[in-house]
Amino acid sequence: MSQKVAVVTGGTRGIGLSISNALIAEGHKVAAVYFGNNEAAMKFEGAANGNGKAFKFDVSDYAACERGYAEIVESLGDVSILVNNAGITRDGMFHKMPEENWHSVIHTNLNSCFNMCRVIVPGMRDQKFGRIVNISSINGQKGQFGQVNYAAAKAGMIGFSKALALESAAKGITVNTVCPGYIETEMTGHMNQDVLDSIVKQIPVGRMGKPQEIADVVSFLVSEKAAFITGATLSANGGQYMA
Ligand code: NDP
Repeated sequence: MSQKVAVVTGGTRGIGLSISNALIAEGHKVAAVYFGNNEAAMKFEGAANGNGKAFKFDVSDYAACERGYAEIVESLGDVSILVNNAGITRDGMFHKMPEENWHSVIHTNLNSCFNMCRVIVPGMRDQKFGRIVNISSINGQKGQFGQVNYAAAKAGMIGFSKALALESAAKGITVNTVCPGYIETEMTGHMNQDVLDSIVKQIPVGRMGKPQEIADVVSFLVSEKAAFITGATLSANGGQYMA
């Protein structure tokens, strides 16, 4: 595949970092968006040998995405690949969930997809080429205790992707969703060991996934080989839930 410019939100840590590095390895230039962790961002840039650049802005803020996108285009050129990966959790039982934890998860995990796609899709339509991958979750497919906010946002990404796929197909743009199961990152590293042990017992392959295993799926979906795959929801969860 010829060299393209890819934007990976949350691209400097965890699953997003693996995705950024996989796309760089495929020969693309990567703009990795982050919002808090400068150290991880600098480390990513340092290792990227000029093929990856970190951009700091809040993907839940539409105006910030407009400004950030303009900076990316000025710095790297027209964007052909977008991976909406940035996400947060604010877990808690619904009957005790503060309104703020609902809104922050919906804003960061779902509204960010609107924001980033809304600023990037017009350029992809002009190019008559685009690859969009939205990173949802197994818990958006099946629900999870303590994650009404997160499951709602992640399920929303699936419908969002299917509708945008229909509108974009004739312009050479594919839009797909990847639903990872439990993956070894800082997000799951913060979970209680007993909870993690009970989760692993429910995964038929007998282990958690690795960030690279999600990056490999994304690499394929953004390649020219995947032109006939759009509106798809791809589960990568070790057999834990077969949607
Ligand atoms: P991490 O917590 O390790 O990384 C999250 C990334 O998102 C960080 O780079 C962070 O930036 C960035 N980010 C968070 N909020 C914002 C924001 N407002 N604006 C810009 N960037 C932001 O997450 P994971 O790697 O574990 O998860 C990545 C995605 O995969 C998430 O969407 C998650 O929901 C999903 N997922 C994860 C699973 C898992 O088991 N880990 C399972 C299923 C889905 P910064 O570094 O600056 O903080």
